[in-house]
Amino acid sequence: MAEVQLEVRELTVQYGDAVAVRHLDLTAADGEVVVVLGPSGCGKSTLLRAVAGLERPTSGRILLEGRDVTDLRPDQRRVGLMFQDHALFPHRTVAENVRFGPRMQGLPAGRIRERVDRLLELVRLAPLAHRQVTSLSGGEQQRVALARALATEPRLLMLDEPLGSLDRALGDELLAEIARIVATVGTTVLHVTHDQDEALAVADRVVVMRAGAIVQQGTPDELWRSPRTEFVARFLGLDQLLDAEVRDEVAATALGALPVPGAADGRARLLLLPDAVRLVDPDAAGTGDATRTGDATRTGDAAGTGDAAGTWPPPLQARVVGRRFAGDHVRLQVRAGGVPLTVPVWHGTGPAVDEEVRLAVDPSVVRIVEPDA
Ligand code: ADP
Repeated sequence: MAEVQLEVRELTVQYGDAVAVRHLDLTAADGEVVVVLGPSGCGKSTLLRAVAGLERPTSGRILLEGRDVTDLRPDQRRVGLMFQDHALFPHRTVAENVRFGPRMQGLPAGRIRERVDRLLELVRLAPLAHRQVTSLSGGEQQRVALARALATEPRLLMLDEPLGSLDRALGDELLAEIARIVATVGTTVLHVTHDQDEALAVADRVVVMRAGAIVQQGTPDELWRSPRTEFVARFLGLDQLLDAEVRDEVAATALGALPVPGAADGRARLLLLPDAVRLVDPDAAGTGDATRTGDATRTGDAAGTGDAAGTWPPPLQARVVGRRFAGDHVRLQVRAGGVPLTVPVWHGTGPAVDEEVRLAVDPSVVRIVEPDA
């Protein structure tokens, strides 16, 4: 088990009467990339700023490498910060911006030069070292900000919405760059964002926040496969939710009876994960590529996942009401028993709008979630 690098204990930050962060506990292991995900206003930046020393906690402690830093100034904490507006010195060159931190640390000139050169190589900006930062593109400025945040060799790198207002393609590119650089440097990262794709793409662990508190944390896979609440599910973009009445581990729903092993009797909220709904005969439209649309047979990945997987409910009749282009696949919108559902199919495959199809629901990827209050 890696050593704990950051430990936040019972942190509360208030602005007057408003509580931005409440009794929050959080740890990050050495070298771990922890991404705090949540809607605007949930307290992500406040948490980050408190760890950086830019916001005073109302109560609680912050430890770095086991040492209590709660009362230390930001520059005494050895943390690196990259903000979305990058906050660079506008009238300085790229190299001067990166040099600033190590110079404030009082390093000898030779070591500063060596460090700046190495970082500019790492962020692939060496050829632009003597350019004014204002003459750079948004993506280049973000990379200067990243190099500057790393220049003091922080024990914790903090990224606050690091993709800022970059467009999708540039943002993806920068994200891949950040991942490569972080892996090279091996530093612990605390990254905050409101974007679930960004969080799931880079995190070792995702921490979902709501109204100043953590509501769930886990690996991207754990969160995506098993969101505990409707809020977390919806925030991750999982929105196939159904009301149900459970009796003897069988849920009565608008889609029929679904086995829910271990569930208690009574009302429940069910989440169908994206791969829960499949076309029974994706070949019906005659386009052939059935294997990748998930053929809903009772074998394959359904086998061996327990009792639920062995008892698929009978296929449902449904009608295709739309097809939405989604890059590498098409999202087929269907209605079954009045319930809107989405079935991903690969390009050029699957039925057309208004066609009748048969659907199978894989009970092993149906979850019970806590309903939203
Ligand atoms: P996020 O980063 O998740 O968008 P913030 O941490 O910025 O959330 O804000 C959390 C809550 O605290 C919000 O309700 C916000 O309005 C409030 N807040 C943030 N900064 C201040 C401040 N300096 N003064 C008063 N309220 C603030």
